[in-house]
Amino acid sequence: MRVAVLGTGVMGVGMVRSLRRAGIEVNAWNRTRDKAEPLAQDGARVCGFAAEAVADADVVVVMLFDTDAVLAVLTEALPAVQDGAVWVQSSTIGLEGTAQAADLASRYGAPFVDAPVLGTKQPAEQGTLVFLAAGAEELRERVAPAFDAMGSKTIWVGEEPGRGSALKLVCNAFVGTLTAAIGQSVGLAHQLGIDPQLFLDALDGGASDSPYVHVKGAMMLRGEYPPSFALDGVRKDLGLIREAELASGTSTTLTEAALACYDAAAAQGHGSEDMAAVMTAFREA
Ligand code: NAP
Repeated sequence: MRVAVLGTGVMGVGMVRSLRRAGIEVNAWNRTRDKAEPLAQDGARVCGFAAEAVADADVVVVMLFDTDAVLAVLTEALPAVQDGAVWVQSSTIGLEGTAQAADLASRYGAPFVDAPVLGTKQPAEQGTLVFLAAGAEELRERVAPAFDAMGSKTIWVGEEPGRGSALKLVCNAFVGTLTAAIGQSVGLAHQLGIDPQLFLDALDGGASDSPYVHVKGAMMLRGEYPPSFALDGVRKDLGLIREAELASGTSTTLTEAALACYDAAAAQGHGSEDMAAVMTAFREA
């Protein structure tokens, strides 16, 4: 099997390495070629054009920032794809974006799997992502070796593209508000003159504790935010979640509040840092 990975940002790099560790041949392409170049050392073939990367691939994994990027790259690469190659769309692009991407693929007769992922930089590197997938039954076996190399499990949500992305929005609504809630408590502790480590100590081992609280909490305490998931990416996702809430008649109240917190942190210059930098929205300037 040969897999093309289009987009070697934070996530794509780790996904390529996980595929290579499983012995799968990989063509890697990134708009900024420098970011893909180190993957040659892992045995990936680094390509100068997306069309070149997909030409001899059996599976094409798309891992780009947003809908505009996905549609632009699909438009360039789809005409070059070999018959029957499966498109796996793993970027977080929401419901409308997924419908547009699936429509574009179908115009070229390309089989399409909607497969956004849960997990961040480290799970991508370790091959422990969770795929939230939707696509025709007969495609599942064909993508399984790639999914198994990059992920620890795959949840098939249905056959209709968009169902995987719907579950992804449900999950990210939780992660986005949870991280903002941790930031709120760390920020409030600072403002009240309480050592915020005591907040983490108080939760430790209790029913409301989770490993995630300590990972993001530790970043907030250090005030250092190397990106696992960039804050601007969360702002994009909360926008997609709000769209889905509006379309489905769900209240947007909590999403709007969380988005305002991330926007405030971005306005302070933290957009390209990790989402944990949302804590800065709660501290006195
Ligand atoms: P990232 O590090 O910011 O990488 C974004 C990628 O998109 C880069 O390869 C970038 O190319 C490319 N790109 C952006 N605009 C483009 C355009 N107009 N044309 C072509 N390429 C373009 O993002 P990431 O963290 O890897 O995330 C990728 C996707 O996965 C996003 O949809 C994100 O929401 C989702 N996701 C992320 C995480 C996470 O924890 N990081 C977890 C789950 C899902 P350049 O290098 O040239 O800029």
